Amino acid sequence: MSVAEKHVIVTGGGTGVGRAIAVAFALAGAKVTIMGRREAPLREVAKQHKFIGWVTCDVTEAQAVKDALRQARGLNGPVSVAVANAGSAESAPFHRMTPQQLQSLLSVNLGGVVNSWQAALPDMKTEGWGRLIAIGSTAGLKGYSYVSGYAAAKHAVVGLTRSLALELGGSGITANVICPGFIETPLLERSIANIMEKTGMDEDAARTSLVANNPQRRFIQPDEVAGTALWLCSDAAGSVNGHALALSGGEI
Ligand code: NDP
Repeated sequence: MSVAEKHVIVTGGGTGVGRAIAVAFALAGAKVTIMGRREAPLREVAKQHKFIGWVTCDVTEAQAVKDALRQARGLNGPVSVAVANAGSAESAPFHRMTPQQLQSLLSVNLGGVVNSWQAALPDMKTEGWGRLIAIGSTAGLKGYSYVSGYAAAKHAVVGLTRSLALELGGSGITANVICPGFIETPLLERSIANIMEKTGMDEDAARTSLVANNPQRRFIQPDEVAGTALWLCSDAAGSVNGHALALSGGEI
C-alpha cells in the first residue's frame, strides 16, 4: 500500500508538526489538504508543493470540519488518511486553571480529534481502508507539572484511540496516536517564552529545563513525527492498531 494518489487531510497543517507531515505526504505522492484557522500559514505551506491544498476551519466546531471536508473532497476525492494534529498547550497550576481554560484545551486537543476523525470515517468505511492518526503527546502517557488540563486532554486521546481501534477492528481502518516529547516548533517556542516569563530564567536555562526530560538530550524534530505518520500508512504497519507510539528518546 502506498499513499500515492491518496487524499490525506492534516489539521493544523500550516505550522510545526502539521506542516512537516503535509510536506512529507505530498513528497510521497499523496494529495494533501491542510486545515487551520489562519489563512496565511496555510497558503505558505501550500506554495511549497503542488499536491498541497488548504481549507480554513476551526476543528473545535464539528459542523465546520464537516463543511471543510466537503470542500476538500470536491478537490481531492474521498479521504483515506486523517491526521488530527491541531492542538494547543496552555499551562497553569491546577488550583488556578479556570473551567474556560480546561474546556478550551479539551475542545481543541480532544474535540478536534473526534471532529476530524468522525468527518473522515465514512469515506474510509466505503473504501474499506483508512488510517486515523492523532498527534498526541508524552503528556498523554505521563503527567507533567502545571499542564494538568493539557495532559488530561492528551490522555483522553489515547483512550479514544484504543477504543476506536477495537470498534474498527474488521474494517481495514486503523487508529493510532503518536505521542512525541518536546518538539522544535512554534508551540515549543511559546512554552519557552512562558517559562522565561514565569520563572525569570534566561532562554538557555528554559530550553535546558525542557530538554532535560529527554534522555537523548535533544528536542524531537517535526520530520521524525512525519516519518512515523507515513510509516503508519505503510503495509508494514498494517497490524499496528490502537497503539500509542512514544517518540521521546526514551523518556517513556
Ligand atoms: P503549533 O502551534 O505550531 O501548531 C498547532 C497548529 O494547530 C497550528 O497550525 C494551528 O493553526 C492549529 N490549530 C490550533 N487550534 C486550532 C483550531 N481550533 N482549529 C484548527 N486548527 C487549530 O504546534 P505543534 O506543531 O508543536 O503542535 C502540533 C501537535 O503536536 C499538537 O497537537 C501538540 O499538542 C502536539 N505536540 C507538540 C509538542 C511540542 O513540543 N511542540 C510535543 C508533543 C505534542 P491556527 O492557529 O491557524 O488555527
